[in-house]
Amino acid sequence: RYQSLPYSRALEIHKKHLSPVETAYFQKPLLLHQGHMEWLFDSEGNRYLDFFSGIVTVSVGHCHPKVTAVAQTQMDRLWHTSSVFFHPQMHEYAEKLSALLPEPLKVIFLVNSGSEANDLAMMMARAYSNHTDIISFRGAYHGCSPYTLGLTNVGTFKVKLPSGMGCRSTMCPDVFRGPWGGSYCRDSPVQTVRKCSCAPGPNGQGRRVECHFWIAADCCQAKEQYIEQFKETLNTSVAKSIAGFFAEPIQGVNGIVQYPKEFLKEAFALVRERGGVCIADEVQTGFGRLGSHFWGFQTHDVLPDIVTMAKGIGNGFPMAAVVTTPEIAKSLANCLHHFNTFGGSPLACAIGSAVLEVIKEDNLQKNSQEVGTYMLLKFAELRDEFDIVGDVRGKGLMIGIEMVQDKMSRQPLPKTEVNQIHEDCKDMGLLLGRGGIFSQTFRIAPPMCITKLEVDFAFEVFRSALTQHMERRAK
Ligand code: PMP
Repeated sequence: RYQSLPYSRALEIHKKHLSPVETAYFQKPLLLHQGHMEWLFDSEGNRYLDFFSGIVTVSVGHCHPKVTAVAQTQMDRLWHTSSVFFHPQMHEYAEKLSALLPEPLKVIFLVNSGSEANDLAMMMARAYSNHTDIISFRGAYHGCSPYTLGLTNVGTFKVKLPSGMGCRSTMCPDVFRGPWGGSYCRDSPVQTVRKCSCAPGPNGQGRRVECHFWIAADCCQAKEQYIEQFKETLNTSVAKSIAGFFAEPIQGVNGIVQYPKEFLKEAFALVRERGGVCIADEVQTGFGRLGSHFWGFQTHDVLPDIVTMAKGIGNGFPMAAVVTTPEIAKSLANCLHHFNTFGGSPLACAIGSAVLEVIKEDNLQKNSQEVGTYMLLKFAELRDEFDIVGDVRGKGLMIGIEMVQDKMSRQPLPKTEVNQIHEDCKDMGLLLGRGGIFSQTFRIAPPMCITKLEVDFAFEVFRSALTQHMERRAK
């Protein structure tokens, strides 16, 4: 047990010296001291099952022994050079990462954070296309830098300053909360939807595995309506042309929002017709988290022109990347130098390589698929049991549980109530994430090494928190 700073001192220092804007989870924020794989330990020695990985960042496990050993060895050898010098870690990493992407996505820019990666992708999209407007979904999160804040369409992150010149938002094709995707069950409880006689998803038995992803597409023609909206945004852009379109394959911060089947495919084609490039933000969905595929864009059967990645790429070490085609990469050549002091440091690249090796050696993509599907089916049972569980959705180890006042109204469960359930889970040893514009959705994205046994534990904890909540409500 590691005890360097008493809790009260940490609170005092936080209040005095740290950003007042950072919002910590929980009435009594956790002071974490140690981590091992999917477990975290606080200053009092309590242990928690980490079902949120520090916002979908710890991909292969906290302090994974192999990644830690590689980092320690590299620290003894060489930390930093800056990209004006070559070092083997950078070249080895570039080769390993590019091998995981389809042609022609083979040129890599190494940076330090998701925001930086998206900044760079925006710049390249504009330089390459010679157009101005960049489009992203409402509810999307693509970063908090002044440039990417124009792409991030979540009100709580916006600063009261004009931001994002040339960025335009378009309606998110959210099949649960959107005006059309949800219409098939607006007037009937969710249970009826599952009895719908439409063809099942491509995995055969899969209606509940793929959840609304398929139901919405098959049942209610929502996709066409969302595409009409999308066209309206495109047609009202500067000179009816587009520089780029950013999309997360599944929205993270917005509460694990999935789009109707085929939506992205059609949207990409429409953007390209207008001269734009398509950017997949894989900051949360990449590196095998979605189970069936290594990259989220592959689950939509699309090929982006630029892919941005961060978070899980370094298992918590600050690193990020932009991968694109040789042609688009050249668009920056007219500025002679594009420089980033820390991007692609020997330490970051050594860690990145170790993470890729561990994903393979520990079979983590397969684990995401198996354990994620098991978890989705299990947690979906709670939708039948509790009227306040409006939706359970997602793919692999990226799952959302949307809390509502009742299934008929689909009004979000008040934040105070969601906070209490969140806090109760923490007190029972389970850390969940939050998302959605009303903070109404619990987000589950654990390190990819979790087991079914741990899912069972999490299920019992969550179920018990919901039961306690219903009892409180009844009083
Ligand atoms: N894109 C997505 C999808 C994200 O979730 C985030 C971070 N939550 C970012 C970009 C920005 O990443 P960073 O915080 O590393 O700048």
